[in-house]
Amino acid sequence: MTTPTPHADPKPPGRVYLVGAGPGDPGLLTLRGAECLRLADLVLYDGLVNPLLLRHSHASAERTCRAEGPTGRQIRQEEINQRLVDAAREGKTVVRLKGGDPFIFGRGSEEAAALRAAGIPFEVVPGITAATAAAVYTGISLTHRDHASAVAFITGHEDPAKPSSALDYQSLAHFPGTLVFYMGLHRLESIAGSLIAAGKSADTPACVVCRATQPLQQTVTGTLREIPQLAKAAGLHPPSLVIVGDCVQVRDRAHWFEDRPLFGKVIGITRPEDQADDAAHRAFELGALPVLLPMIEIAPPDDWSAVDAILERLDEFDWIVWTSANGVRGLLDRLWQTGGDIRRLSHARLACIGPATAKVLEQYSLRADVVPNEFRAEALAAALAPKVSGQKVLWARASRGRDVLPQILTQAGAKLEQEVVYQNRDVMAFPVAELAQLERGDLDWIGLSSPSIARSLAKLITPAARQWIGTRTKLASISPVTTAAAAEVGLPIAAEATTYTWEGLFQSMIRDA
Ligand code: SAH
Repeated sequence: MTTPTPHADPKPPGRVYLVGAGPGDPGLLTLRGAECLRLADLVLYDGLVNPLLLRHSHASAERTCRAEGPTGRQIRQEEINQRLVDAAREGKTVVRLKGGDPFIFGRGSEEAAALRAAGIPFEVVPGITAATAAAVYTGISLTHRDHASAVAFITGHEDPAKPSSALDYQSLAHFPGTLVFYMGLHRLESIAGSLIAAGKSADTPACVVCRATQPLQQTVTGTLREIPQLAKAAGLHPPSLVIVGDCVQVRDRAHWFEDRPLFGKVIGITRPEDQADDAAHRAFELGALPVLLPMIEIAPPDDWSAVDAILERLDEFDWIVWTSANGVRGLLDRLWQTGGDIRRLSHARLACIGPATAKVLEQYSLRADVVPNEFRAEALAAALAPKVSGQKVLWARASRGRDVLPQILTQAGAKLEQEVVYQNRDVMAFPVAELAQLERGDLDWIGLSSPSIARSLAKLITPAARQWIGTRTKLASISPVTTAAAAEVGLPIAAEATTYTWEGLFQSMIRDA
């Protein structure tokens, strides 16, 4: 008879994924990269990685910077290698997220070697490297067939321990194609000078692309002789790439990213944080950098008993009316949680204030019977008034809001009941980093999407940020009602939406440009 072993087998190590995060645009992550992030227990990401990518993950995340920076402490490469090994030995699934491609100038291969030596299973997921992405986003083909039959990726920042320059400028000057220098901005003068001294024509087209693929991308073009001066004058800073070669000329014909209607604009999105994704995504599509400035937060009612009592007698109502997406979720999620489902609404007719609210209703497989052409309470009330006389109407509403709807519906003879299905509360302060951006005047626009948001902005804004309102930082209002509320609290509105949605707000900013 065999006796059972007294101790369990040691836990097998977790797996490490070395993942290329791409050059900055969060859309330029591979599907495999996103999958790995979903699997991770721990994410270690480097300074170049766009933190928005962390939204693919529920893991705890730590930033590792090899250079001292405002957001990360300096950490040695050996320390990172050790962290990866240790976490895997604890059985964790680890993602090591690195800017661009992990094996292009990224020391990713050293991390892989350390994992291999420690016997940790790992996988490497390639990423889009900065050179190809920067070229594409600035409108350059690095291998345009009229101009280059080869491309070289070169480091402009050599290992300081190396005794002499490893770069053979003679060969580079005579290389039959495009030269792309990574990490070369701070040595641009020396790079350009060395190439010219080695025989490269001083008139060769060159460009520097800063923060490539991101809304604040900047491109400076000139000749090899001029480019160091031009880059300095433009105040470019890392991360930047230097591209040298005749292919730079075709940029005039093929640029696209920098032509987006709100390119380079920094836009404050005032939606509650958990609902800002759509607006933020749309801002990116239009070329802008969204900055999340939530002013209200959405919370469940302190006490559900009143809502639950209404849900009990849901079949009494002829109409259910919603004036916000949160109202739809508030009522219908509670219905589900208390054991009911949408069959309980089968007899009722449904009305929504606008398409965004109706769209959320669709997610519950419900179609609105009434959506007014103009998305405001007056229009909704006017559309309903002829239909509701003598009928029982439920308005599933926020803890605060306008009183227009009940007034008009009651006058029209409806038996109206109002129930608060979610709270709409002011936040107490802006997040620190975002406030700093406001106070530096970095924002070009703030979109105000309701009267209560306009009033909150007036309350939350500090004097240092207030000084830029109307000059560097313009305000766009979603509707005349919001514009009036802003005027009451002394906030000047520079643009007003004609369609009362976030898309309408963005369009008003484009018209103003
Ligand atoms: N593994 C990365 C490169 C790391 S070295 C990759 O494959 O892209 C860091 C250098 O990459 C920076 O100094 C800069 O030259 C370049 N770089 C990275 N991201 C960039 C970006 N968004 N815009 C311009 N250059 C970038």
